[in-house]
Amino acid sequence: MTRASLYFHIPFCSKKCPYCHFYVIPNSPSFHQILEEGLSLEWEKNLPLLEGLSIESIYFGGGTPSFFVPGGGVARLLEKIRGSRLALASDCEITLEANPEEASPELFSSLLSVGVNRLSLGIQSLDERSLQSIERIHTAQKGKQAILEAHRAGFQNISIDLMYDLPDQTESSWLSTLNQLSSLPIQHVSLYNLTIEPHTSFYKRKESLSFPPPISSLRMLNQAVQTLTSLQFKRYEISAFAKQSSFSKHNIGYWTGRPFLGFGPSACSYWEGKRFRNISHLQRYTRKLKEGISPIDFSEKLPYLDSLKERLAVELRLIEGADLNEDLPPETKQCIERLIEEDFLKRNEKKICLTEKGILFHDTIASVIV
Ligand code: SF4
Repeated sequence: MTRASLYFHIPFCSKKCPYCHFYVIPNSPSFHQILEEGLSLEWEKNLPLLEGLSIESIYFGGGTPSFFVPGGGVARLLEKIRGSRLALASDCEITLEANPEEASPELFSSLLSVGVNRLSLGIQSLDERSLQSIERIHTAQKGKQAILEAHRAGFQNISIDLMYDLPDQTESSWLSTLNQLSSLPIQHVSLYNLTIEPHTSFYKRKESLSFPPPISSLRMLNQAVQTLTSLQFKRYEISAFAKQSSFSKHNIGYWTGRPFLGFGPSACSYWEGKRFRNISHLQRYTRKLKEGISPIDFSEKLPYLDSLKERLAVELRLIEGADLNEDLPPETKQCIERLIEEDFLKRNEKKICLTEKGILFHDTIASVIV
């Protein structure tokens, strides 16, 4: 049975973080109603596409999807999915993103009761000054408390996001975050360095911000890898670490080309080799659906050989590597051989994977392959 994943974009946030480039809007009850109406219509519209497929993972991302829990939005969506006679895999992974400031035992119990079995917490740092430098509204203490409360409520699969390369961050402040991980009941860490994207508040004032120098940034990455490895986390993707095989099924789907449908304003999809994205505007998204018009405002389908190259570049993010498709053009195969000679790639049984050096240069390798 072909496997597929679902993504729901819940765009509400208390305040926009200065580095955020996602589509987010204020958390207002009137917006909740508009979103629910749009999601419901989009669900009905796309349901026939999902028939006969096995749903391996469902992901509520944002934004801050936990804002959509108390009013029952997430529960009603999950009810709709379960009531639609779709084939949900028996071990279907259902993840919801939450921020520490919204965490409470009630929230976590309510998530567990509707079947959410994986929590992704936007912790970012356990150092007060670093959290302030990126203008997060939670404290380090609140971050730790959120993890402990989620665990106490019964979550067995907790993932946290951590960020380095923050303004004014020092290696010792990063170490203080890493040193606290051993006491926390987490199974997964997504590790990112801060990137300054256009159209963000940080981008506009980047000249006035002071970031760690590249050598420090590399040392922070190495410190993180060492700490996580010593805590029995396995690095299974460039930026993802998991304990006891708690790999993110949803993200593995992205990296291996599993089809997924995205619902909600700005949500992206990958379906039958085509990528498409919904309009990044809540009211227009729902209005279009009510008028029977598609909310998609971007779509592309790469020619077959280009799609193979792109798939390879993305799948190389996985530490175990990627299979080489026979159909890849000869120049791509030559390029792979060159990258092996230059110690950016290596053979791993039947697969090709990044070397230690290659992990640091994946973006460049991907652009060379594509
Ligand atoms: S909480 Fe996350 S989604 Fe919301 S503004 Fe901050 S970074 Fe963006």
